Amino acid sequence: MPEPFREDDLLAYIRDQSRMLGPRVRTGPGDDLAVLDFHGHGLLVGVDQVIEGVHFSKGTAPELVGRKAVVRNISDVAGMAARPLAMVASCVLPPDVSPEFARRLVDAVRRTALQFNAPLVGGDTALHRGPGPLTVSVTVLAEPVSQAMHPVLRSGGHANDRLFVTGSLGGSLLPDGTGKHLDFEPRLDEAEALHATLGGELHAMMDLSDGLARDAARLAEASGLQAVIDVAALPCNPGCGWREAMCDGEDYELLLAVGGTRAVPAVVGRGRTRISQVGVLRAMPLPNAPRVVCMLSDVELSLDGAAGFHDATRVFEAR
Ligand SMILES: [Mg+2]
Repeated sequence: MPEPFREDDLLAYIRDQSRMLGPRVRTGPGDDLAVLDFHGHGLLVGVDQVIEGVHFSKGTAPELVGRKAVVRNISDVAGMAARPLAMVASCVLPPDVSPEFARRLVDAVRRTALQFNAPLVGGDTALHRGPGPLTVSVTVLAEPVSQAMHPVLRSGGHANDRLFVTGSLGGSLLPDGTGKHLDFEPRLDEAEALHATLGGELHAMMDLSDGLARDAARLAEASGLQAVIDVAALPCNPGCGWREAMCDGEDYELLLAVGGTRAVPAVVGRGRTRISQVGVLRAMPLPNAPRVVCMLSDVELSLDGAAGFHDATRVFEAR
């Protein structure tokens, strides 16, 4: 049997192969954005794409596709507590695309980018030779909010930090392809407010795109720790339980690790977005322990690949 492809294995391989990138790379692959040294100033860069059939369904309005391609990247900027600077975009169009659809798509990318003060300054377009999914890839450039406020990385978590999330989780991508994932507001303003309020106690942060289970594992691994999630404390969207909040993904909320006993505001930003404590970081109990465990009525569950949560006696199938 050939070895199955796992995206996380490929990402780990890329990180392993990216250790000698030179002194101008402050943060390389493995965070929401890379951080470069640009003549003594921080310059952030990252890329994210949306693909028909994966990130949106066929028939989705081009306005929503273009917007999502941009705001996914803005959400990564928020994850670093940085400020967007500019964007470039490339798209691969199906051969039967109409000129009107293509114009509406690029208009949406340009308009949304401008809305976040990240003007679209270049790009590339291509046509599939045969049938192929519409794909829009956006590269974002960003800068620290000020030279005194460094980007917040995933790797800064300490043991005993409290973990918080903004907003509520689960059910963003509905079975028919609609849902919050097409019109979410990236938590840019909230991230900046949290950074200003918490200062150096905001140890680590990232945006939640692949579900709290996978993303908390990434933050914990980058920090060399284990995340313990109290599932009873998860802020779940209507119709969702803790499994959906842990696993659904496409939430585009923030996950943050806060040190000390510093009070964290209950709401933050112009939209007064709710902040909920959902767990803590702790030292790894064993070297090969899972990076995330869930506490459910004093039972400790770990996520077993994509299959579900389990402990020695019980198995919960995740969706
Ligand atoms: Mg991200």
